[in-house]
Amino acid sequence: MKEQISSRPFHYPRPGAPLSCGSVSLENLARKFGTPLYVYSGDQIAERLHLFQQALAGRDHLVCYAVKANSALAILKLLAGLDAGFDIVSGGELERVLAAAPEAVARVVFSGVGKTAAEIDLALKAGILEFNVESEAELELLAARARKLKTKARFALRVNPDVFADTHPYISTGLREHKFGIDIRRAPAIYKNAAGNRWLEAHGVSVHIGSQIRSAEPFGAAMERVSKLMRQLAREGIALKSVDAGGGLGIDYHTGVPTSRSAAVGWRGGNFDAAEKVREYAEALQSALGDFQGQLLIEPGRFLVAQAGALITRVLHVKRNGKKTFVITDAAMNDLIRPALYQAHHEIVPVRLRAGRPQLVDVVGPVCESGDFFARDRRLGGVEPGDLVALLDAGAYGMAQSSNYNTRLRPAEVLVEGAKARLIRRRETVADLLAPEMI
Ligand SMILES: *Cc1c(COP(=O)(O)O)cnc(C)c1O
Repeated sequence: MKEQISSRPFHYPRPGAPLSCGSVSLENLARKFGTPLYVYSGDQIAERLHLFQQALAGRDHLVCYAVKANSALAILKLLAGLDAGFDIVSGGELERVLAAAPEAVARVVFSGVGKTAAEIDLALKAGILEFNVESEAELELLAARARKLKTKARFALRVNPDVFADTHPYISTGLREHKFGIDIRRAPAIYKNAAGNRWLEAHGVSVHIGSQIRSAEPFGAAMERVSKLMRQLAREGIALKSVDAGGGLGIDYHTGVPTSRSAAVGWRGGNFDAAEKVREYAEALQSALGDFQGQLLIEPGRFLVAQAGALITRVLHVKRNGKKTFVITDAAMNDLIRPALYQAHHEIVPVRLRAGRPQLVDVVGPVCESGDFFARDRRLGGVEPGDLVALLDAGAYGMAQSSNYNTRLRPAEVLVEGAKARLIRRRETVADLLAPEMI
């Protein structure tokens, strides 16, 4: 019988044992590498990629990991080694792919509403798979740069399907009122126009409706509209080789966690069924695509890396102000901004559970902003100064969105594979921070 894949690699291996990533104790990692510390399970990232590859095995496909979710070089290298491609949104992200896995550059798609000429040149020279073009002006610029470099640019129009996806407004992108993509009704005219340009090759069409979308339905609806567009183009003699469904499949940030020692026995990271989610998602795309014979690209970011990662932080103080109890950690909003930016929820668990009743607390960082919190009125198993706690599901848009606000040094990062853990980014030093400045 197939063991159910648990949603997180973090669990308490035995009663009284500290939280572990796979078989590696987070207490040991914190002792060795310090805190705050990002810890990722390479095994879970590989497992998630495999779920998508398996679900699409029946057709020509390419899973292009959205680099912006977590751009650690070691993670890019791991994914490239498992045949993933990449979705990039800047020249900097292309440089990361070139540094980590140059052999994968032919599997790169370049998205984003504001590509510069220099970024386009870099990508044309590197020989990426396609540019996902978001405006007519960008297509003109792409043609001009291709002409200059005497090369042909493969492009896909990123169309805006005008589909509503139920997610946070900051990460919803598929409505006409958003800055993203080209009105799908304008697309046929643009493809026809481009057909006369020898520096452009109409390679595909792409769509991306937003992020943290929990239901398969809007992905299917968007793909229906894209399919219709492709059939229309085919009738007019424009046969596209690829269709890019974008990213955006969401995870469950609320999967329960134990708050007491007794409840932790047998807790294996929560039971959000990732495999089932991927099957539903793939099914929605496939049925909308019908008999399309070309290559299907998808661009998952969060779904591959979010649950594989946790931010480990040490409790500095427990402070009472009136009725409120504040747990002050050595991690802050500059290390993980999602709660402050999107009112995002992250489950928080003590690395070593204590006996006693859970308390209602606010978990906050030391940064001088009232927005610097990880949780408000959260029930947390008793924690004392010096204890370690783990912010779960922090593998996506965590380190990638970190900053040096308050001149704080960004965390170190550790990748766990099997029983091995290795540093993939050392903790920053003050010298790193001051290096670009002059007086
Ligand atoms: C951000 C983004 C993605 C990845 O989104 P996730 O929600 O992390 O899967 C994919 N494609 C494009 C164009 C994006 O902007």
